[in-house]
Amino acid sequence: PVNRTKEVQEARMKLPVCGEEQVIMEAIRNNTVVVICGETGSGKTTQVPQFLYEAGWSHPDSDNPGLIAITQPRRVAAVSMAKRVGYELNLPESVVSHQIRYDVTTSEKTRIKFMTDGVLLRELSQDLLLTKYSVIIIDEAHERNLNTDILIGVVSRVLKLRAELSREDRAKIKPLRVVIMSATLRVSDFTENSTLFTKPPPVISVNARQYPVSIHFNKRTPEDHVAEAFKKVSKIHDRLPEGGILIFLTGQNEIQHLCKLLREKYPSLPPKAALEERKRIRQAAELELKRDAAIPGEAAMESEEIALGENQVEDFDLESDSDDSDSDLGFDEEELVSTKDAPLHVLPLYSSLPTEAQLRVFQPPPEGTRLCVIATNVAETSVTIPGIRYVVDCGKAKERRYDIKTGVQSFEVDWTSKASAGQRAGRAGRTGPGHCYRLYSSAVFDHDFEQFSTPEISRMPIEGVVLNMKSMGIDNVVNFPFPTPPERQTLSKAEKLLGYLGAIDTDVKHITPVGQAMANLPVTPRFAKMLVIGNQQDCLPFVIAIVAALSVGDPFIQEYHLEENEDDSDDDSLDHKELKGLNRETEIAKARRRLMRKKYFESQIKHAGLDRSSDILKLLNVVGAYEYAGATAEFCEENFLRSKAMEEIRKLRWQLTNLMAALFENVDVWVDPKMLPPTKRQIKFLKQVITAGFIDSVAIRKDVIENGGQGGTRFKNARGVAYKLMWSEEEAFIHPGSILYSQEPPIALVYNELFKGATKTCFKGVTAIDT
Ligand code: ADP
Ligand code: MG
Repeated sequence: PVNRTKEVQEARMKLPVCGEEQVIMEAIRNNTVVVICGETGSGKTTQVPQFLYEAGWSHPDSDNPGLIAITQPRRVAAVSMAKRVGYELNLPESVVSHQIRYDVTTSEKTRIKFMTDGVLLRELSQDLLLTKYSVIIIDEAHERNLNTDILIGVVSRVLKLRAELSREDRAKIKPLRVVIMSATLRVSDFTENSTLFTKPPPVISVNARQYPVSIHFNKRTPEDHVAEAFKKVSKIHDRLPEGGILIFLTGQNEIQHLCKLLREKYPSLPPKAALEERKRIRQAAELELKRDAAIPGEAAMESEEIALGENQVEDFDLESDSDDSDSDLGFDEEELVSTKDAPLHVLPLYSSLPTEAQLRVFQPPPEGTRLCVIATNVAETSVTIPGIRYVVDCGKAKERRYDIKTGVQSFEVDWTSKASAGQRAGRAGRTGPGHCYRLYSSAVFDHDFEQFSTPEISRMPIEGVVLNMKSMGIDNVVNFPFPTPPERQTLSKAEKLLGYLGAIDTDVKHITPVGQAMANLPVTPRFAKMLVIGNQQDCLPFVIAIVAALSVGDPFIQEYHLEENEDDSDDDSLDHKELKGLNRETEIAKARRRLMRKKYFESQIKHAGLDRSSDILKLLNVVGAYEYAGATAEFCEENFLRSKAMEEIRKLRWQLTNLMAALFENVDVWVDPKMLPPTKRQIKFLKQVITAGFIDSVAIRKDVIENGGQGGTRFKNARGVAYKLMWSEEEAFIHPGSILYSQEPPIALVYNELFKGATKTCFKGVTAIDT
């Protein structure tokens, strides 16, 4: 017996998904897996759990006594949806509960449980059969989050197990049902994937009523999308008829900044007497905005995220579209209204915001005010805010990325996909026809937006993914049914590396305590390993600087590397040819280049310091010297460094330092701008740390191997000296750009990178192993 209020009852009946209740329930009864697709706001998240509840699922005396579980990629959604469903069913939070990492309301009475997919994955490591549950609803599957993908894979196996066990003894173990819900119809990765589900699950699509949304592109793409959003929202509020505004920005800092500007310009209570005051504030706000616009904004980040990149800006243009006219609003003159100085009810929405503050967006705004929500892509599909008529979309999102070459994981702000932009626009058409203002040009949309976002699993370094899975207790990753599987070979290679690094047991492939610690660090496992073992002999600050530099990638300007690569003799003959033309300018340019090369080489030697046995230690010296010199662009210029890379290294160095201090009890580190170079003893230790991180990247001089490990030839420098790779048959050479090139080549070395040149394969980032 369900006891809903009349009001709730009426609202429910308008939801498209309620028209499909019979179809959905029948499909769930007859199939172990069912996929439900429906536009955001059609009622999937709030109603499907209620259908199950009303049909007796989760009732102790029923045939399906286990709980109803609903997973969400985001905490905001898990909490707010549990509240909403509890409210609709008129049940306390001890019955319709939620569980997220820092907050749990479950009790013995819990029947419906909303949780993040991360929480369910952790529960799996305790109870692989998920015996507590009778049905698992995996929501927002279209987002293709790593956790959601892995969860779908795990659950497909749990289903089989539960089915087998219940056939043996149904009284003891009941079969499990799975419902996958998606806001888009792009679900073939789940349905047409026979390793995942042998029999394709039925797909039920819910036809949502969606009102038309007019899309308005900016003519130009502004450099500062926050300033642009401020202008646009002001115009909408000043000139357009009633209806809520939803603004998509990329992160917490941007959101708070825009909140502040809008609240100053439009106080939510109109103090008639204080009109003058408001004018003053508005001018100040605009002034501040101008000032801020002049400073390149740092990529805003949510507290739990690591941000490294900078905004990618395509069209540099400080002028926005037709500033003073309202023509960009796309309304006819007679449709415009004047609500100048009307109050605006400005609310932020992002995942690290306290729950109570998040839930305010669902309440109707105070009488006579206009609702204005400034959100991250949380509001894209996870939550539906009532009454939105205008959407302002900056077109960007913060996304987890990794660099295949360096393997660094980061959160970067970049253009979203066309699919995401469509979802964002759709938020304006829930209650009536709406408008979406895109703060970028249609050319940018056409050329720079991908069709769909790439599944997160394809954007992650694979050894990182595997380590994450192991830390969740999934040991057999090669046979794991991924919705979008990484290549098998890549997977087993990743496992091998984790074994070398000591993160997993090489026999049973189970995670070790070291691996568990490594899983908490936002760098690739090999760098995480270096950090975890680096806290000895006061070396951790050095290790952090090294890891930061390696993660960002080579900060030296590459051109000079390439020239180093050219053979001197070739260069001369070229010179002669050109000299025949006697082009004075070329001659000067040539001479200058040669001078630069000399300077570059000198600076390399200088940075290498006393110890010339490691390119990575050279990097450490550069990072230290840069900080010592006040982290200036001049320093970069003088030393042939890319200043953007150096800034990124600096940021990462700070982040890793804070993280290490927070994660490990016995760690006491800070960023010392006057860090002294490592001592001889410390250098020895640092080389061991580097070797431990690159344990799979060892090479031995070929002549020494051929000589049975005895002596070998004496060489003056590394030119033409071949090395054999430890774990493959390949041969490689020390690159002329290496600090080790111009000296007696070491017998053994570890390398950071391998790359294939036109004629031979070269090492980059070499460290000699003391033999
Ligand atoms: P879907 O999951 O298909 O996107 P939901 O079930 O989240 O849809 O939302 C269905 C409807 O319920 C929406 O129209 C939304 O406005 C309403 N709704 C959801 N949560 C709340 C809430 N906390 N307060 C008021 N209305 C809500
Ligand atoms: Mg939903």
